[in-house]
Amino acid sequence: MSDLFVELTAPNGVKYTQPRGLFINNEFVKSKSGETIISINPSDENEIASVYAAGPEDVDIAVAAARKAFKDPSWRDLDSSARGDIMYKFAELIDQHKETLATIETWDNGKPYSVALNEDLAEVVGTIKYYAGYANKIHGQVIDTSPAKLAYTIREPLGVCGQIIPWNYPLAMAAWKLGPALCTGNTVILKAAEQTPLSILYLGTLVKEAGFPPGVINFLNGEGRKAGAAIAQHLGIDKIAFTGSTGTGKEIMKMAAVNMKNITLETGGKSPLLVFDDADLDQAVKWAHIGIMCNQGQVCTATSRILIQEGVYDKFVAAFKEHVAKTSIVGDPFNDDTFQGPQITKTQYERVLSYIESGKSEGATLVAGGEAYKDVGGKGFFISPTIFTNVKDHHKIYREEVFGPFVVISSFKTEEEAIERANGTTYGLGAAVFTQDITKGHRLARLIEAGMVWINSSNDSDIRIPFGGVKQSGIGRELGEAGLEAYTNKKAVHVNLGTKL
Ligand code: ADP
Repeated sequence: MSDLFVELTAPNGVKYTQPRGLFINNEFVKSKSGETIISINPSDENEIASVYAAGPEDVDIAVAAARKAFKDPSWRDLDSSARGDIMYKFAELIDQHKETLATIETWDNGKPYSVALNEDLAEVVGTIKYYAGYANKIHGQVIDTSPAKLAYTIREPLGVCGQIIPWNYPLAMAAWKLGPALCTGNTVILKAAEQTPLSILYLGTLVKEAGFPPGVINFLNGEGRKAGAAIAQHLGIDKIAFTGSTGTGKEIMKMAAVNMKNITLETGGKSPLLVFDDADLDQAVKWAHIGIMCNQGQVCTATSRILIQEGVYDKFVAAFKEHVAKTSIVGDPFNDDTFQGPQITKTQYERVLSYIESGKSEGATLVAGGEAYKDVGGKGFFISPTIFTNVKDHHKIYREEVFGPFVVISSFKTEEEAIERANGTTYGLGAAVFTQDITKGHRLARLIEAGMVWINSSNDSDIRIPFGGVKQSGIGRELGEAGLEAYTNKKAVHVNLGTKL
């Protein structure tokens, strides 16, 4: 076997062949520099595998492949129903390989296996199928003006799309971006996060079998500042779609200006969850827990600021603390009863611990967690679910995104104060409102500055519904019909039917 593949056995006993190359033109290849990145198991800090890392030269090669594929009649002129069929086959292949893909995701990322399999992989298959269905439903309009003119629009693909994804949901983020890009006829260069390269490479093994022509889908690994920056700045790339931190999103925006790339960005958040005195408290507690603690708290839409109306504050805090202690079971992600695995990397782990120190030193009250969790073999990047109460608006932990199993709780008196404080952030991704008053719920949904509002739930995402942020949480929308907007141009055609100059 060439060194482009390695035989691995995962901690759950699953044996499989892991590709190590860059996936360009339907083949795995080495990087030109020979540079590699090492993937670490966050549960025990051991090396899983090393994979080739792309540099600017490799990005050039991938762009040439994607550009050629974009113009090739085998893709450009493909009947739109046939394009949908290839995507559907891709989704079916992912479904057939879902146990292996979920295993890799858990091993490389640390998320519980049951979540990787039943939530992430189900979402990946569902998203690709959903957009496969759109492939033959994308069309322009005839716009009536006068009998002397026929005017119509064509919805055409943008071209070569650069897609840069994060490490918290590698396969799902890839699906959110591949689905709309492919069904509209674009070609893609997708870069996985350097922390989680493995599942995306395995996905590459299914691309050719699904029937995509060479160069339509290319997967690169590599560091953000090298491979990612080369994608963002490349003159041969027409669009950039990014999910990650707000700081990196701003850098990408600047780089993408070089040729005025079309951009969509999905960045950070500090989403509020408001609980009013009239809320169903039991429901509020359960959703608040899911809203911040799922996926190890590494969710851009995590409802990380809980704001409770004074009348139910003490009751909520007591019930929430009890619920977290009972359900946020930290452990080996391959164990069936584990709710929370390790943080993705040592850097993230240390970052969360530093916010714990900040909370303590600024005078917030630590009511749960607040330390590393050492009971999973003494290794790995585990953190005890952490709750701070008595948190003030000026505290760093109230204002900044922590991206961990870490929540701040604060109280409010009136609806006006709740709105003002919910909106008192540079972010605007999600917001949750708990009230039994239907009028108040809808009123708040309009007044809160966020891309998504959940009334009596939190992080209740659905592939059919637009996802994205306002303010510094992003630009554009993914998922749903809205997700297609990011991947097509509307070309206008004016046909003169006889008006003479
Ligand atoms: P985090 O800080 O949590 O690792 P980032 O937003 O930096 O998140 O990373 C998300 C994705 O963006 C990853 O694929 C990463 O490689 C990429 N990335 C990071 N920095 C840059 C950059 N300067 N240019 C382009 N891509 C980048």
